[in-house]
Amino acid sequence: MAVAELEESQLAELNAMGPEALLSWALETHGDRAAIITSFQDTGCVMIDMMSKVAPGLRVLTVDTLRLHDETYAHMDAMEARYGTIERFTPDPARLKKMVAQHGEYLFFDSKPKQEYCCTIRKTEPNQRALETVDVWFTGLRRDHSSFRVDTPKVQYVDRDGRQILKVAPLVDWNQAKIDAYMAEHDVPKNALYNQGYTSIGCVICSTPTLPHEDKRAGRWRWFNALDDDGKECGIHIGGSGI
Ligand code: SF4
Repeated sequence: MAVAELEESQLAELNAMGPEALLSWALETHGDRAAIITSFQDTGCVMIDMMSKVAPGLRVLTVDTLRLHDETYAHMDAMEARYGTIERFTPDPARLKKMVAQHGEYLFFDSKPKQEYCCTIRKTEPNQRALETVDVWFTGLRRDHSSFRVDTPKVQYVDRDGRQILKVAPLVDWNQAKIDAYMAEHDVPKNALYNQGYTSIGCVICSTPTLPHEDKRAGRWRWFNALDDDGKECGIHIGGSGI
């Protein structure tokens, strides 16, 4: 069944389902056209652990920007050892080489457009390639990540290059305490950067630790804090019918 054939009533049913039921439904109905796409932050890791119990075999995809922290690479390896194969999507080598030759490795410091260009080459374009392989996209978005994400739906269609994809955020209404409790109970591996004050983890330099009063994504691109910004989003979760 194509995702676009789902009726409003079926979407409402999906919205009412818990995370394990959603993962199980996706594998049963869409097989290898359904996947978790994750950067292995806490929420994604909880989803993967749930998947291993109720929907083993559901694909797990990630975008490796080639600028991640050593701790993140170690964590990904630990997750792969425990839960199985991770499909890694990396930047197109020719486009990456051209960008670095023209603007340098650290172009993201120069201006907002150059940061967005870097995010396009390293994140958004590989993510788009990953999305081309799925009809159901599980994401670890949560409403408490930032003020920009407070209205994130649990289930929605998003348009990617004229194609409708069902984007599912099964833990959208969980908070950090609930995530922490699940991880402790199920002994889910955790990125060591969380113990260094990070609350949102992306590329080296572009993500930094946060203070207790800040949004979880406040540590992203701090040198742009004086600008009117886009909610500290890199582009992967912008577009379609919302976040
Ligand atoms: S987060 Fe920084 S290094 Fe990573 S893709 Fe975006 S601008 Fe480039």
